[in-house]
Amino acid sequence: MQKSFFAVCTVIILLTAVLITYNMLRNGQKIYFNQSISLLGDEAYLLEEIMDATSFDLENTKISIEKYGKKLDVKIAILDTDGVVVLQTNNIHTLVGEQNPEVETALKGNTGNDIRFSKVDNTTYIYIAVPIEMQNKKCVLWLSKSVDTNNLFHEKIMMDGLKIVGIVTVIALIIVNFIIKTMIEPINKMTKTVNEIAQGNYHKKVHIGESGRFGTLAHAINNMSQVLESTIEDLKDRNTKLEAMANGMKDAVIAIDYEYKIILINPMCYKLFSLDGDVMNKNIFDVLRNEHIFNAIEYVLKRQDAIEKEFKYVRNKTIKLHANPILSRDDGGACIGALLLMEDVTKIRKLEIMRRSFVSNVTHELKTPLTSIRGFIETLKNGAISNPTIANKFLDIIDIEAERLYNLIQDILALSEIEVREQDFDVSYYNIEEITDHVFNILKPKADSKNIDLQFHVEVGVVDFLCNKSRMYQMLINLIDNAINYTEEGTVKLLCKKENNYLIFVIEDTGIGIEASQIPRIFERFYRVDKGRSRRTGGTGLGLSIVKHIVMLYKGEISMKSVVNEGTTCTVRLPYINN
Ligand code: ADP
Repeated sequence: MQKSFFAVCTVIILLTAVLITYNMLRNGQKIYFNQSISLLGDEAYLLEEIMDATSFDLENTKISIEKYGKKLDVKIAILDTDGVVVLQTNNIHTLVGEQNPEVETALKGNTGNDIRFSKVDNTTYIYIAVPIEMQNKKCVLWLSKSVDTNNLFHEKIMMDGLKIVGIVTVIALIIVNFIIKTMIEPINKMTKTVNEIAQGNYHKKVHIGESGRFGTLAHAINNMSQVLESTIEDLKDRNTKLEAMANGMKDAVIAIDYEYKIILINPMCYKLFSLDGDVMNKNIFDVLRNEHIFNAIEYVLKRQDAIEKEFKYVRNKTIKLHANPILSRDDGGACIGALLLMEDVTKIRKLEIMRRSFVSNVTHELKTPLTSIRGFIETLKNGAISNPTIANKFLDIIDIEAERLYNLIQDILALSEIEVREQDFDVSYYNIEEITDHVFNILKPKADSKNIDLQFHVEVGVVDFLCNKSRMYQMLINLIDNAINYTEEGTVKLLCKKENNYLIFVIEDTGIGIEASQIPRIFERFYRVDKGRSRRTGGTGLGLSIVKHIVMLYKGEISMKSVVNEGTTCTVRLPYINN
């Protein structure tokens, strides 16, 4: 920039110098010519007076003009009023006559002059023609003199001119250089620094002297960059904290400006709405097409007020939305955007529903035996107690109902105890054969009473399993007890094996079986395929639910396969996690 400025200035200065020199030369030449013409004019009038005063004949006049011509170094001719040469000096080699402009003027009664270049001797001549009267006879006196265009006078003018132009050029270039140094250089430095600051290089400073206007401006730029740097640092710091906070939140967070552009979004939001790619600065309605979100944002931006709502999202998700306006600190607290906090409350809502139905189921389950107990006590009080046979029968029923109540309460307690656990307590390595033996001894009498062949088999290679012994009993007793309860005749088999680091229990019966459509529901609390049969066998409807939670506690899997009237096979797979 500086170089080009210098080059432009140099060209302008040199052009100006050339123009001035040319002009000076032209004017100098003009002055010289004018002076020469004036001098020749004076000589012409002098000659006129001499010749007019003296009476010459033609011969003498010729001698006279030859003499004066030589003395004055001029060419002289005398023409008549028709423009025809009467006399002329010998040094005239061209034709003189009225075709010459100066002669034409003189013939009209005025003094004429002209400057012409003669090709004959390659010289420039000045010409003058004066109307004169010689011995009362009108005629024209014509004089011509060569002018030296390359004379010393010219050279001097040119040299002087060139000297002046040279000095002026040097002075001008020094001034230009000074301007570049004192004005353009600081401006360039400041422009460069401001550009770097604009690109984020806030610690950049302008290094020019402190004095003058540029010094003040540089000082102001340096101050500005310092303030900008600290403001940006402050903003970055706040942004980092804000991002860390948003990223650490369990809820989805999304903030938009007043043009609906996303200005903040956390990973949880990406997860909740299964978003892909960078959505920053995109319009929220292009990213989340949901009328509830749209309505909430419109409400918040228009009313500048918070709103809370719950809605269903894809795949039956329940989302709780809190939308708040973002108010500006300046502008009298104008609304500049909205902040949305979204919570996935699907599990909570499902749990609430489950809890409500559990409470109503428990109430119902407790009510049935209690009503029965109260009914028989009432009947006993009303006189049946005096009949020992009937009284004993009623007391037996009350006993059965009381036991059912006890079992129900035990199962409810067991279920709620397992549900809250993440890991089982009081665990140790137990021999699986010892556990199954214990279960066999408990259930053998019941199987025998129903003439059911109870078979237990533990394969070789089943190693000790890290567990809570009572929990294993609870799980196996529930499953095998069910198999006995729902089998009229035949066998109930337990097979235990180790496969791919899994402890596997297979319980197989030849019982009534379960319809395929019922199988997904039998693990639900209080769900029974046949209520009457379950009650007769003393079932609470919680057995399989307890088993499922025990299996989950051990990070295992349970599956049921069944064919109605042929039998049921239940498979439990528990991983040897720490074994
Ligand atoms: P219950 O106390 O009624 O046995 P469970 O939760 O143990 O409750 O079982 C739920 C239901 O699953 C039972 O009511 C029964 O209808 C069915 N069921 C469980 N095991 C068997 C099985 N081995 N054969 C046939 N039906 C079964």
